[in-house]
Amino acid sequence: MSTAKSPHIALFPSAGMGHLIPYFRLALMLAKRNCVVTLITAQPTVSAAESDHVSLFLRHNPEINHIELQLTPSSQQADSTPVDPFFLQFDLISRSIHLLGPLLSSSSPPFSALFVDFTLLATTAPIAKDLHLPIYVVSTTSVQFLSLMAYTPVLTSNPTEFNNASIEVKIPGSPPMAMSSLPPALLDPNHIFTSSIIVNAQALPGAEGILMNAFEWFHASILSALNKDRVIASLPPILPIGPLESYHIPQDGDRFYQSWLENQPSESVVYISFGNRTGMSRDQVRELEKGLENAQWRFCWNLKTTKVDKDDCEDVTDILSDTFLKGTKNKGVIIRGWADQQEILAHPAIGGFVSHCGWNSVMEAAWQGVPILAWPQHGDQKLNAKVVEEAGLGLWERDWDWGDDRIVKGEEIERKIVELMTDEKVKERARKVREEARKAVESGGSSDRVINNVINSVMVPF
Ligand code: UDP
Ligand code: UDP
Repeated sequence: MSTAKSPHIALFPSAGMGHLIPYFRLALMLAKRNCVVTLITAQPTVSAAESDHVSLFLRHNPEINHIELQLTPSSQQADSTPVDPFFLQFDLISRSIHLLGPLLSSSSPPFSALFVDFTLLATTAPIAKDLHLPIYVVSTTSVQFLSLMAYTPVLTSNPTEFNNASIEVKIPGSPPMAMSSLPPALLDPNHIFTSSIIVNAQALPGAEGILMNAFEWFHASILSALNKDRVIASLPPILPIGPLESYHIPQDGDRFYQSWLENQPSESVVYISFGNRTGMSRDQVRELEKGLENAQWRFCWNLKTTKVDKDDCEDVTDILSDTFLKGTKNKGVIIRGWADQQEILAHPAIGGFVSHCGWNSVMEAAWQGVPILAWPQHGDQKLNAKVVEEAGLGLWERDWDWGDDRIVKGEEIERKIVELMTDEKVKERARKVREEARKAVESGGSSDRVINNVINSVMVPF
């Protein structure tokens, strides 16, 4: 006989598909374990993909409740320095946060816990406290980058020492991090990226735990340092519950790339994608064309040229050269717009993944055992690339630097793609990662036990 009521959990993601997809996954993982789940989404969204996917997700999963938080329009001056629209949205959501308390307190059944994105922690924690709700952070980055964020208030409290640390910086629990791998914005305490990380990191001690798209086997050393040795005393427990389970929602539109993949030999195709909010410059597109054409592997290229999808309106023929399109006819497909990446990575024809190393992409590759060629573009991606390299899940060419800092030549790309697609050691290691990822989430596996414990701890007694 049950002695406790199912918990009612509010999930509150921030902006961008990389911050939304993990919440869809988590919502279904909680619902499957008999939790009542309410998803809170901010409106309007930055990208079309976010609003489309929220509607699709709710339509296909009617058991998930929904609350909309209407944002007050931004007062940013038209002539001020342009700011990443996704970072601005984090800030905008925080400014409308006073609307959240009444939405939460009027709910029936009442909420038992609030799970929020790291970027929203500082502003939501006082609301959770007023309502006596335990608050958990859901982090969308790697454990390594999270520990850097948690330590950022310490690093930036001594700016001279931090800026002068010319080679590497030491974060407790992690191997030394090269300064060149840190997001450059972190060296500017007035940058919105840094000020937001500082304020949210300072709120971390108030959270019950940090749910992470990570798994024990993959992150054994850093998890042991952070959880057992408590090397960053202010950090609440890190709760590895990944890889977050994938879900399937039938998509509208022409999925020509799937039928193309059906006709390709096993592990013969390299998939190229830089996530949902990284556009590639024209000069870099030209070099990637050369690299792909000369590497002579089949390819599936998810091509984006702008940060926000609504701005990405050009046709393939306006972006790619005739020579490339003619020279590679039948050897590859170009995707414009949203594609189901988890489904692509699951296809047996895929043999390698050229990725910016957004953390969701890394865990999706780990889940499928697809080797990665890391090509970090900005933000947390160099530190994520290092994790990929250290785990043996892929290759990383450090000389390629950040996306904005240099144009990588076609010959270099060609050489690394050939290496990626032919490196038997990486393929074998990727298969091992896949096997361990699956063990972690099966019933009684490390990640399954962690999520069940979290649910039990927020369970309401009768
Ligand atoms: N994604 C997708 N189709 C696309 C672009 C992205 O399914 O056309 C998904 C991808 O599988 C991942 C997320 O969007 O789950 C992107 O998150 P990630 O952390 O990899 O990168 P970000 O977009 O945040 O830079
Ligand atoms: N982040 C933050 N505030 C910001 C921008 C970023 O707290 O204004 C954190 C956030 O947790 C994010 C991480 O820094 O996951 C890495 O940011 P990045 O832009 O690289 O990743 P993305 O948002 O695309 O996942």
